[in-house]
Amino acid sequence: MLEIRNLHKAFGSLEVLKGIDVDLEKGKVLVIIGPSGSGKTTLLRCMNLLELPDQGSMKLSDRKLEFKSGRKLPTREVTELRKRTGMVFQSYNLFPHKTVIENIMEGPVIVQKKDRAAARAHAQELLTKVGLADRGDYYPHQLSGGQQQRVGIARAMAMEPDVLLFDEPTSALDPELVGEVLRVIKQLAQEGRTMVIVTHEMKFAADVADHVILMDGGYIIEQGPPQQVINNPQSPRAQQFMNRIA
Ligand code: ADP
Repeated sequence: MLEIRNLHKAFGSLEVLKGIDVDLEKGKVLVIIGPSGSGKTTLLRCMNLLELPDQGSMKLSDRKLEFKSGRKLPTREVTELRKRTGMVFQSYNLFPHKTVIENIMEGPVIVQKKDRAAARAHAQELLTKVGLADRGDYYPHQLSGGQQQRVGIARAMAMEPDVLLFDEPTSALDPELVGEVLRVIKQLAQEGRTMVIVTHEMKFAADVADHVILMDGGYIIEQGPPQQVINNPQSPRAQQFMNRIA
């Protein structure tokens, strides 16, 4: 489903990704962990072209892109690739002046030109799935952070993407609200959704991941099943990281 080769990204003279390879099969969950500043979010943002890589290639479902520094991608290519991904942001990014159900319908109606009634019915289904069936007419500020993030997840799913991307989905939440969001993500994993998740929640990562990538300094320093990377890391640098956060 997703195949990334030799991905490089710099911000000015700061090299943030230094040659990243990723493979992800349909229906699997990839979790990206690593110290702050190691490039996790940048890698995730490259996956839906919120950041344009400088070098390397990416294949997502049926689309393949090659990146070269200084070369802009055709807008159509970017749009086609974005359609195949759905992003859940750290800070929810809901439209404050729209109701919950309107937030979820926005993409399907405006971008996909879906019929409003069909979009509303689908949005309602998704709200039920994230446990908020009775909150469609609320405004975001009337919801808790955990509820807003669950709306964020429903909104990402409304576009029916091939891959869901989560950028530290619980790091803006009060501790008591983290569980409800992680439970929704876990349920999606069990349904066989293809997902990439950047997180600092190690117990959750160990629980939900099929494959874990540990990044440091713009490189993947270890990868494998969670039992290895999280519970029994092989390389000294990976051991050091896991010991530090344990
Ligand atoms: P992580 O998610 O692992 O904490 P990031 O991918 O957010 O790491 O950031 C990696 C590095 O890239 C950091 O040094 C960060 O300051 C820098 N960085 C991220 N985005 C930008 C940007 N838009 N412009 C300049 N520097 C950036």
